[in-house]
Amino acid sequence: MIVDIRVLRRDFPTLAQIVNGHPLVYLDNAATTQKPQPVLDALNHYYRDTNANVHRASHALSGQATRAFEQAREKVARFIHAPSPSEIIWTRGTTEAINLVAFGFGRHFLQQDDEILVSTSEHHANIVPWQQVAAATGAVLKIIPLSGSAELDLAAAERLITPRTRLLAIGHVSNALGQVNPVAELIAMAKAVGAVTLVDGAQAVGHFPVDVQALGCDFYAFSGHKMFAPTGIGVLYGKTEWLEKMPPWQTGGEMIKTVSLEHTTFAEPPFKFEAGTPNIAGAIALGAAVDYLQGLDRAALQRHEHGLLTQLLNGLTAMDDIRVIGRPQAGSVSFVMDEVHPQDLATLLDMQGIAVRTGHHCAMPLMQALGLKNGTVRASLAFYNTEDDVAALLAGIDKARELL
Ligand code: PLP
Repeated sequence: MIVDIRVLRRDFPTLAQIVNGHPLVYLDNAATTQKPQPVLDALNHYYRDTNANVHRASHALSGQATRAFEQAREKVARFIHAPSPSEIIWTRGTTEAINLVAFGFGRHFLQQDDEILVSTSEHHANIVPWQQVAAATGAVLKIIPLSGSAELDLAAAERLITPRTRLLAIGHVSNALGQVNPVAELIAMAKAVGAVTLVDGAQAVGHFPVDVQALGCDFYAFSGHKMFAPTGIGVLYGKTEWLEKMPPWQTGGEMIKTVSLEHTTFAEPPFKFEAGTPNIAGAIALGAAVDYLQGLDRAALQRHEHGLLTQLLNGLTAMDDIRVIGRPQAGSVSFVMDEVHPQDLATLLDMQGIAVRTGHHCAMPLMQALGLKNGTVRASLAFYNTEDDVAALLAGIDKARELL
């Protein structure tokens, strides 16, 4: 199938606008992606035609809402090849999904001197919860360092994984540098010592197919809004074995089997972890985003995105005053310009309608390790970007250089 990106772009109304007098060039997809019309329609349809609470199906609308909500869970399970929809927990996003594991697994199953292993390149969402767990339990947080090319040092990881390692929590794709981590190898090493594994997939699911069974991880976390669905909805995949053992992290309605004034019994997973009225519209719209992606030729989209990445890297490396950081492979490309603060460059790009992000990208330890005290400029791609978008960014940098 030949994908016509120009036709696909018509599905994304936000992209067709003028910003600061120029057609929008949206290259901030790692922060959040734009939403296609079927996702917007799913939200609208839910609130306009169905709007009812779920799992209280004593009337027609509630039955419809419950069916759509649970079908979305089934779609997500198929999307990441989870063995069962009961292993899909709705969360607000990646951050909440990781915090759920930090509470349910970290605080309840880790103890003094157990080791938690993360990497230098993690997003803060996959560092701070583990620091908190370490402080509360006496577990020790260990860090996989970077190799010379800013990639994860696998040899060091091998040395750091010991019989004391109880948890490996690792990003699938670095949001700051766009590097794809060797998660399958790391998971295999961690499993060999009996450790539990969590993958932060926030920057992966929107770029390439993910198969949690092939990866063999115990937990996989991601956010809807980074894969063309709304904000405020995300997913924690967890193996049944762990979901059954972990205590609920929030309690109240929806997550119970029976309640008396003296005692409560909890519902089975996933409901045990979904206290209160969930983000029903968000979950249904995430299901619509999955349908949308599954309806496209994802291999062709990946090839297209890879072509854009190559075009961008070739253009940037041809500029003497630009330094690309690390070896970007999916989505994000971080760079710095000699003597220029990233924010100044981004402001001059914004004046040309080009949206990029600057700063530490919620990865301060990574920026410190790389000696980038002002952070970087990050251009991040999605499949709806075009060669013209990349050319506009490169020309925009040239223009900014003239103005500086
Ligand atoms: N992990 C990574 C790699 C991310 O890129 C992000 C968001 O930028 C997060 C976690 C946090 O996601 P959210 O803010 O949707 O919870």
